[in-house]
Amino acid sequence: MTTETREFQAEVNKLLDIVIHSLYTEREIFLRELLSNSADALEKFRHQSLLEKEVFDDHVPLEIAIQVNETENVLTITDSGIGMTKEELISNLGTIAHSGSKTFLTALSESAKKDVNLIGQFGVGFYSAFMVAKRVVVHSRSYRLDDVGHEWTSDASGSFTISEAPGIHRGTKIKLELKEDAKEYSNEATIKRIIKQYSSFVPFPIKISEETINTVQAIWTRNRNEIKEEEYNEFYKYVSNAVDEPLSRLHFSTDAPLAIQAVLFIPKENFERLGFGRTEPGVSLYCRRVLIEQHSKNILPEWLRFARGVVDSEDLPLNISRQALQDNALLAKVNRIITKRFLKHLEEIAKETPEQYEKIWQTFGMFLKEGATSDYTHQDEIAKLLRYESSKTEPGKLTSLADYVARMQEGQKEIYYINGPNRASIEAGPYLEAFKKREIEIIYTLDPIDDFVLSRLSLFDEKKLTSADRADLELPELADDQKDAEKTAEADGLDKTTTETLTKWLKDVLGARINEVRDSKRLVDSPAIIVNPDGFMTSSMERIMRASSHDLPEIRGKNLEINTHHPLIKNLAVLKETDELFAKIIAEQIVDNAMIQAGLLVETRNMVERSYKILERVVQKG
Ligand code: ADP
Repeated sequence: MTTETREFQAEVNKLLDIVIHSLYTEREIFLRELLSNSADALEKFRHQSLLEKEVFDDHVPLEIAIQVNETENVLTITDSGIGMTKEELISNLGTIAHSGSKTFLTALSESAKKDVNLIGQFGVGFYSAFMVAKRVVVHSRSYRLDDVGHEWTSDASGSFTISEAPGIHRGTKIKLELKEDAKEYSNEATIKRIIKQYSSFVPFPIKISEETINTVQAIWTRNRNEIKEEEYNEFYKYVSNAVDEPLSRLHFSTDAPLAIQAVLFIPKENFERLGFGRTEPGVSLYCRRVLIEQHSKNILPEWLRFARGVVDSEDLPLNISRQALQDNALLAKVNRIITKRFLKHLEEIAKETPEQYEKIWQTFGMFLKEGATSDYTHQDEIAKLLRYESSKTEPGKLTSLADYVARMQEGQKEIYYINGPNRASIEAGPYLEAFKKREIEIIYTLDPIDDFVLSRLSLFDEKKLTSADRADLELPELADDQKDAEKTAEADGLDKTTTETLTKWLKDVLGARINEVRDSKRLVDSPAIIVNPDGFMTSSMERIMRASSHDLPEIRGKNLEINTHHPLIKNLAVLKETDELFAKIIAEQIVDNAMIQAGLLVETRNMVERSYKILERVVQKG
């Protein structure tokens, strides 16, 4: 019989190298990884056998058997799951399918703390066998009637062999020839302890010497009051391949309109934010304790892909195929119920333990923002969960839109926000001046995506959400005493005719670059400000577009507002009469400066040349 030798994919070699040479702590998790693969294979078989008329070895009980041989230093794990054909063996145990695997491996090989938990997170669990084994022999036979069995072997040195192995039962047997320093894993007591610790939730019997080690149970069907905290935590670790505890948990059941039992978790880490590629959904769908779809894409909206757990609904048809899941109306209903309940859970946390919610927001806020821009059905609920800094919060502290509304001044009709790279630069910029003067609260959106979120929401609690860089910004009237002060100050500004000539002249000089020049009602200390006319995107949206398309030309047609009380503007009105050429240079520079304060890009070469010209003049006069 022929034996083929195949090379591992480069990423697998890299991973094996890390597994073998760098991971010494918590080695025992290899067993959890292999048992969870076996459990998956058993679940898949159970599901498949509901769909197909005939499967191989139908009579074999669904279970996992473990054998230890202390004298030969060998550990064997056998399951009667779905098994693998030759092609499946080659691709499943020779490549890494996960999309983020390259990034993950680079990060892992660079990080000083080689985090063993990550291995499970990235779907490379099988290879953890090589933490403890010098050689691994896999026998597998698919449930498909036309398959014969195969043997796969490797000592992790760059290649593996594959050959036919007829006459074996359905499922997979993994034999670990243990390393000298891993002798403890051929000890029955040790193995029993590890199974109890990590795999008590495997929904199939795990047997050693005919004794079942785990208590097979579906935690989500049990009474909430009877479940201990540790049990939930262990269950979380089991369903999400984690070693730490979850940040939060939700266990609930409904009877109408559908019977649903669910246990959902929010993890502590957001791996997508850490740059490990896109997070895959982590909630599995069951019907009467039978797995219908693992890590289902259909059970929650995509933007809730960070949630982990189990949803069981006895109203779903048991023998539904994966394709049919996608457009199943019942499932869409389950999805709506679960999503609403999950969002309510978040709202409850926000109300009862705001510090904990803040942690969730810091870690997973990006997903909620994604939901706010993409999921019209849940927009209102998501809006309540958004958190921002504002001019009324302490630096680093956050407010909800509801709290903002509660603090709104009499006469204030809209909710205002302004985007900037950080608090300090927003507070130093021209957009805040009018708000400070009126003591109106303004939200700071520090993430460029926030402007998309808020403009997509457009209303909160029936109040318009308005970006402070809008040209048509209408702020509440000043208080009476402030009005008086304003009148006195007015005397000190440019008069009406001079202002009109100056704005007209500026418009001519600036040409198509600027749509309109106006006397500003909002500026206090700054000479000028860029604002966006109706129908224009806000400056931060423009920044996002620019980030994704580098040769985007300057977007023309913004408005310029000038502060006719500012010495620079007042002197410009004089300069344009005495030295128009130089006055034009100054005008251009004012626009560029205002553009920079709006966070927008200006043509650097022109701007630098121009500012040198200006400096030259100053130095000459100096
Ligand atoms: P993951 O299980 O996260 O996908 P692994 O590297 O652990 O990643 O396994 C790769 C693939 O090999 C699995 O997705 C599965 O298709 C297959 N596999 C592993 N173990 C078994 C098993 N005991 N029975 C059947 N298939 C298995």
